[in-house]
Amino acid sequence: MHLTHLACTACGLRHDASVPQNLCTSCGKPLFAHYDLAAAASTLTKKALSTRGKSLWRYREVLPVKDDSAIVTLGEGGTPLLPASRLGARLGLRALFIKDEAQNPTNSFKARGMAPAVSMAKQFGLKKLAVPSAGNAASALAAYAARGGLEAHIFMPSDTPRANVIECEQMGAHVTLIKGMITDCGAEVARRKTAEGWFDLSTLKEPYRVEGKKTMGYELAEQFGWTLPDVILYPTGGGTGLVGMWKAFDEMEKMGLIGKKRPRMFTVQAMGCAPIVQAFEAGDKFAKEFPNAHTRASGLRVPKAIGDFLMLEALRHSGGGAVAVTDDEMLTSMREIGAAEGVFASPEGAACYSGLKSLIASGKIDAEESIVLFNTCSGLKYLDWFG
Ligand SMILES: *Cc1c(COP(=O)(O)O)cnc(C)c1O
Ligand SMILES: [Zn+2]
Repeated sequence: MHLTHLACTACGLRHDASVPQNLCTSCGKPLFAHYDLAAAASTLTKKALSTRGKSLWRYREVLPVKDDSAIVTLGEGGTPLLPASRLGARLGLRALFIKDEAQNPTNSFKARGMAPAVSMAKQFGLKKLAVPSAGNAASALAAYAARGGLEAHIFMPSDTPRANVIECEQMGAHVTLIKGMITDCGAEVARRKTAEGWFDLSTLKEPYRVEGKKTMGYELAEQFGWTLPDVILYPTGGGTGLVGMWKAFDEMEKMGLIGKKRPRMFTVQAMGCAPIVQAFEAGDKFAKEFPNAHTRASGLRVPKAIGDFLMLEALRHSGGGAVAVTDDEMLTSMREIGAAEGVFASPEGAACYSGLKSLIASGKIDAEESIVLFNTCSGLKYLDWFG
């Protein structure tokens, strides 16, 4: 609502927010939305929030859409922060929580990003949207495009979980399966988009998906009584969730909603595709493309992310880190989380618990700390894992 402009996350160049934008026109890096936070703070108060609905649109002032009439919504956001004391007790933890993003429309947190991105597309009068996806972004785009009366053109690897493919087809999207990775799907969108008149909604190649995902940071702060937990574990692919929350913390501090304290942010990746873990350990600013990427955790199969430097910055500034886990460890954690807490987590969400075990064992996380695991999707999308 109080969006003023877009600025490049690398070179700072200002871009006009009143027209559709993708990457920085000068250096090709992601653009971030900037707001008049003083104006936003005058109405986005703790008191005002207590009277608003629970969807992510409760943070209306710091979301980009200008006119309410352009908002395309399925009730995204407002997911529970579940205390996980039985699961935590197994590791001797005092305060473990699961932020259950599976309770979003299309059962994953990708809904948070697609709601404002599709709304903005609608506001701009765009008609045809395209996305390369490992699965859940596709499901979310299919849903929001249908809801908003727009076309969705979706490119997914041919071994994407069946649930995602069926879901997209049933919601009327144009689905193309490609033998390869999400990066190959992205190349196909890039190759065809001009001729087809598609607007490219790839992760961080369009500035508004991250705006929706940042609301996870706002919700966490509210759910913790306007403080933040000591530690966040987040399963990272393209990185929008991680950098989005990091952005949210800054905005909230500028608006006087929280203080200076930040959680230590830990990224969890799959052993077979861990470009950010590798770059973090090597002390690199950018991540190299991960060769022969392989993991069945489709959301984590992102060998090269355009927002790599933003993730690495957030991990380092927060004093956090990066950890890789195997697919087998994810499966074990799915069962442990399910049996202990009644949450059927996705492999990506379960990876956080596997990562937590290893970070506790290595002394990087203390048993006394407050810890949040993000379950980014429902396990129901991954029945393929069980034969
Ligand atoms: C997309 C996805 C991720 C990775 O999210 P990013 O914010 O792009 O890093 C993690 N888990 C699931 C289930 C996903 O679909
Ligand atoms: Zn730039």
